Amino acid sequence: MSDLEQLQHFIGGERVTPKSGEYFESTNPATRQPLYRAARGNAADIDRAVAAAKAAFEDSRWRDLSQTRRGHLLRRLGDLIGENAEELARMEVLDNGKLLREMRGQLASLPEYYYYYAGLADKIQGDVVPTSDRKVLNYTSREPLGVVGAITPWNSPLTLTTSKLAPALCVGNTVVIKPSEYTSRSALRLAELTVEAGFPAGAVNVVTGFGAEAGQALVDHPDLAKISFTGSTATGARIAAATASRFIGSTLELGGKSPNIVFDDADVANASMGVVAGIFAAAGQTCIAGSRVFAHRAVYDELLERVAERAKTIRIGDPLDDATELGPLAFADQRDKVAGYVDLGRSEGARVVTGGNACDGGGLGGYFYEPTVLVDVDNDMRVVREEIFGPVAAIMPFETEEEVIRLANDTEYGLAAGVWTTNLSRAHRMASRLEAGTVWVNTYRAMSPMSPRQGFKSSGVGIEHGTETIKEYTRLKSVWINT
Ligand code: NAD
Repeated sequence: MSDLEQLQHFIGGERVTPKSGEYFESTNPATRQPLYRAARGNAADIDRAVAAAKAAFEDSRWRDLSQTRRGHLLRRLGDLIGENAEELARMEVLDNGKLLREMRGQLASLPEYYYYYAGLADKIQGDVVPTSDRKVLNYTSREPLGVVGAITPWNSPLTLTTSKLAPALCVGNTVVIKPSEYTSRSALRLAELTVEAGFPAGAVNVVTGFGAEAGQALVDHPDLAKISFTGSTATGARIAAATASRFIGSTLELGGKSPNIVFDDADVANASMGVVAGIFAAAGQTCIAGSRVFAHRAVYDELLERVAERAKTIRIGDPLDDATELGPLAFADQRDKVAGYVDLGRSEGARVVTGGNACDGGGLGGYFYEPTVLVDVDNDMRVVREEIFGPVAAIMPFETEEEVIRLANDTEYGLAAGVWTTNLSRAHRMASRLEAGTVWVNTYRAMSPMSPRQGFKSSGVGIEHGTETIKEYTRLKSVWINT
């Protein structure tokens, strides 16, 4: 038994020990040092958390709270996140190995998500409907759903949790969060901040643990009104099947294999920086990673050279160090998966231009992998078809616009796409023809709480961010009154 700190669940406004009495260890992926032990949640813990959330949902202190007041609470929560940003950023870096620089940036913009939904809270309203019968008054109202389950991955835990939590609370739901087993800590701290902000106990609960135990139990819980999930397409498919048979809603934000397309009329220097950021930021562990790079034949050599040269100089090391440009992968299996895909690519005939090896991050001993560029690849290869979720770019030439549209859309995914061109008409044509929920032109990775996003095809169901997401967390009632 180690003397590591033990983290408890957060249920009904307090820390709660796991029913099983079991904990699991979390380690720092940069150093492999143990960080803490988190409560291993099971069905009994989920039961308790859902009961607390249900009681809070039905409690008049939450149910009858004015929309204005709910907005105030969200605003206060945003303020508290801002005040605790450095602590929260460091928690995430230690857990998942992302760069402190990047996490500081994410945390700096996180309050905006709460402010955005705080501003929306008192603007949610129904309509009076002009039916053909003048003697009848028909109006609609938007009602909260009840207890929402939020299941999140490890790659941007607080941001991805916030995309669910802020709109769910804005309209009056209560929430049970099941964070990834690799990043338990920041969600627990966030839940504590909700209480500090004035949300009633039970409005936000966190059960830590594994997907097959706590996650599955949450999905299967009969008192759940909705699941909002971000994670892999495989898990999303399981959740979709489980929720469909119970007729409860699910918002699913899933995987991607996004194309990043560079035309011959692009500013190639700028485009190459966009390609590098698109795939090597966060060591490629982003759902929107631009992992399939298509370069017009006329600029292919130049783009490849620029990307490969930059990849060679990317500084790998301690994610807490401001000079580091690439941190570790988040855990050993993740590093092995990336290494396995690069080996597979080699055996499929791909050529490794740069990278292609695991490394120890300059003596840190963690799960690092070099930024890797593959060429001599095509759409039939698994390295081009499957999500690697690591710092591996596959660069391919194309000749015509029609050809690249066909190649870019030849994937089961449809999360995002990048286009680099100075031709305005082409930019619009591409934006219209690409089968992706988000299209960036001459930029990549831009995101805002105000801008709705949706995964097409196997990349998801439902919308996050923007006003559209309110519909995901409410149901519509139509009331008829005979006057
Ligand atoms: P994952 O699907 O393995 O796990 C995600 C979450 O689901 C974790 O909390 C896990 O414990 C839980 N889970 C696993 N099995 C479960 C089950 N049977 N029932 C209920 N919950 C279960 O995904 P991951 O490896 O943590 O995350 C990486 C994936 O997330 C990538 O595919 C990435 O593209 C995707 N992602 C998507 C977005 C987006 O917005 N579309 C954003 C970030 C990450």
